Amino acid sequence: MTFDSLAAAERVAAVAAANAVSVDAQATFPSQFIDACRENGLLALLSAKEVGGHGLGLRQAAEVIERVARECGSSAMVLTMHYAGTAVIEAHGSLEFRREIATGKHLSTLAFSEAGSRAHFWAPVSTARADGNSVTLDARKSWITSAHAATAYVWSSKPTQGSELSTLWLVPSKSAGLSIERPFDGLGLRGNDSAPVAANGVRVPVANRLGGDGAGFGIMMQTVLPLFSVLISAGSVGMCEAAVAKTAEHAGGTKYEHLQSALADLPTIRAYVARMRIQTDMARALWLDTIAALEQGRPDAMLRVLEVKAATAETAREVLDTAMRVCAGMAFRKDVGVERRFRDARAAMIMAPTSDQLYDFIGKAVCGLPLF
Ligand SMILES: Cc1cc2nc3c(=O)[nH]c(=O)nc-3n(C[C@H](O)[C@H](O)[C@H](O)COP(=O)(O)OP(=O)(O)OC[C@H]3O[C@@H](n4cnc5c(N)ncnc54)[C@H](O)[C@@H]3O)c2cc1C
Repeated sequence: MTFDSLAAAERVAAVAAANAVSVDAQATFPSQFIDACRENGLLALLSAKEVGGHGLGLRQAAEVIERVARECGSSAMVLTMHYAGTAVIEAHGSLEFRREIATGKHLSTLAFSEAGSRAHFWAPVSTARADGNSVTLDARKSWITSAHAATAYVWSSKPTQGSELSTLWLVPSKSAGLSIERPFDGLGLRGNDSAPVAANGVRVPVANRLGGDGAGFGIMMQTVLPLFSVLISAGSVGMCEAAVAKTAEHAGGTKYEHLQSALADLPTIRAYVARMRIQTDMARALWLDTIAALEQGRPDAMLRVLEVKAATAETAREVLDTAMRVCAGMAFRKDVGVERRFRDARAAMIMAPTSDQLYDFIGKAVCGLPLF
């Protein structure tokens, strides 16, 4: 029987919704949501059937993230990073580990960003020293989503030799020498646990290398970037949908008793809601077109990948800003449920590649200049 990922998404979205307010208020990791994903087979969505997974792809992963993001941005982010890590492990990890991922035993994530190279994630300054059958890793990773709960970090470093930009490793999160520097206490996505992690002499087997020594940049661009870009965009589109729904509900149900009218009777308010709907539909259309471009191997696929993250991130920021304006005092007081999304939606534009980096890349691509 084919795995119904949309039905599974509905079930886990209900768990995300039930916990969203406390996850945000207390900055707690959405463990119940991840348990629900495990129980509903969603941690194995991208794992191939041959290793016991569901063998589904980008489109289905994106649909799941979009649905979850309508309820809880932190939950959507944690699952996004699991899918990003899983994609690399699926492509380059050992059969044994891929089987373990498919059982739901692991939660993965990316450990790319570093204190030294910041948003320039493709250029780690951290090191890997070959030492017989082991390699020793030293690093100051600046952000690892699910830092405490993840079991399988997909980790970047400089290569052990040669002049390429990076090499990727599978690093168990319980490795000796890893330390989580402080808990995450962010403006938004407060439950995603994106903590800084230091590595001091962490030893992993050479067999934990994901791809060739020096192959990290290629894997980042070919495997990680398209998936990450589409899934972060899925989160932004989902948050836009929630904003439109919450704002319309508030506008329709809020009365001026002395005028016997509703907020939605004001043309100004209706125009704001209309603009939110148009922006959301435009973002959704670009997002779906990007998925189609990747599925069909279209020549414009990489341009779409760059465009979609910037476009959806900036749209979500604007749509949530309008939602705050329309829902006004009630939103400011957190009564409507848009204030949490307003904060959560701001993360996408500063996650690397950031919107401003993407504008630079897109400008170079359009002008026929090399991206790097
Ligand atoms: C909630 C959250 C979760 C995250 N999770 C992870 C994770 O799981 N794994 C991971 O590896 N990383 C993660 N990150 C890190 C993220 O991908 C970025 O590395 C980080 O947000 C960049 O912040 P910074 O302050 O270091 O940026 P900086 O590099 O200091 O950038 C500062 C400003 O300069 C701009 N800028 C920098 N370079 C250029 C350029 N070439 N052109 C134009 N503008 C430029 C940026 O757009 C930004 O506005 C996460 C970030 C957030 C916010």
